Amino acid sequence: MKLSILPLSEWGLPLKKKFIAAGPCSTESEEQLLETAKAFADDRTGFIRAGIWKPRTRPGSFEGVGEKGLKWLVRAREELNVPVGTEVANPDHVVSCLKHNIDVLWIGARTTGNPFAVQAIADSLKGTDIPVFVKNPISPDIDLWIGAIQRLYNAGLKKIGAIHRGFSTSKKVLYRNSPNWKIPIELKRQIPEIPMLCDPSHICGKRELIFSIAQEALDLLFDGLMIEVHRDPSAALSDSGQQLTPDQFFALISRLTVKRETGDSREFDIRIKELRHEVDNLDEHLIKLLGKRMEIAGKMGELKRRNDISILQPHRWEQIIESRMSEGEAYGLSGDFVFQLFQIIHEEAIRRQEEQD
Ligand code: PEP
Ligand code: MN
Repeated sequence: MKLSILPLSEWGLPLKKKFIAAGPCSTESEEQLLETAKAFADDRTGFIRAGIWKPRTRPGSFEGVGEKGLKWLVRAREELNVPVGTEVANPDHVVSCLKHNIDVLWIGARTTGNPFAVQAIADSLKGTDIPVFVKNPISPDIDLWIGAIQRLYNAGLKKIGAIHRGFSTSKKVLYRNSPNWKIPIELKRQIPEIPMLCDPSHICGKRELIFSIAQEALDLLFDGLMIEVHRDPSAALSDSGQQLTPDQFFALISRLTVKRETGDSREFDIRIKELRHEVDNLDEHLIKLLGKRMEIAGKMGELKRRNDISILQPHRWEQIIESRMSEGEAYGLSGDFVFQLFQIIHEEAIRRQEEQD
């Protein structure tokens, strides 16, 4: 898909090595916003983020201060000379933000999944060139995410970015929202020109995990980060467990290593070429082996059909999973990986067994 989205460097926002948006989950008071922003914002800050209208999963929790908070954002911009941004969920929010000259908008995860809401927001943005970031929808549905980006693009916007903030899952084992990297990577493959940020705060839900996710995003060539920072996270009215103090934020930023796509060391180039050659050879074997395996699946399908035997053989499938997982372990492959891999292989084998010539 060729969209003529402007590169982040042409958005008119501060951009150092990486784009860093930071700020409190929510604006709680003018003083809280200004004090927090003064403690971390400087000429390296892409924009100060702060929620004014908060989409909370359940009613009754803090739902934001509303429109009056926009004035506080404007005050922060004036005092610190740093752009400011907030989340919009409907055209009224957009109109208020445009009236206050807010510099950046983003569409939250709960809104991206609703094409009616996104279209209404896109319509209200027609004729402006304000930068808008689109967070991924709550569910891992890449088309909903791309669809929201297209709606903004069709409305004439050229400064459109994406934010990976993880996906909701029923089991919240480690992360609040699971970082399903293959989805932003696929989005970037389909729309290579789109700037992609990662929001490790909403992925992690706990401040201790933020560094490793932020570093992983940089390792995967994300263009920047959006991080929640609060002057006193323990007193925050929303997302208290995942916000960093300004000191923790600086410590985190200074530990991160920015990666490049290509290097200039000859030694590196030679070694990586050798390793890639090995990988190419192994992949060729893998493809050949998978082809053979599927051919045999086809023969088994034929045999089962002639004998009125069901394609799915639950005991055999159970045996395959168990034995492959323990064989995989001997080669350092995680059970989870082997399980998922064989689920895909099994699904394709079933499809091949169902085929009749
Ligand atoms: C937020 O940025 O504070 C927020 C509500 O994020 P999300 O839409 O990713 O849940
Ligand atoms: Mn938040």
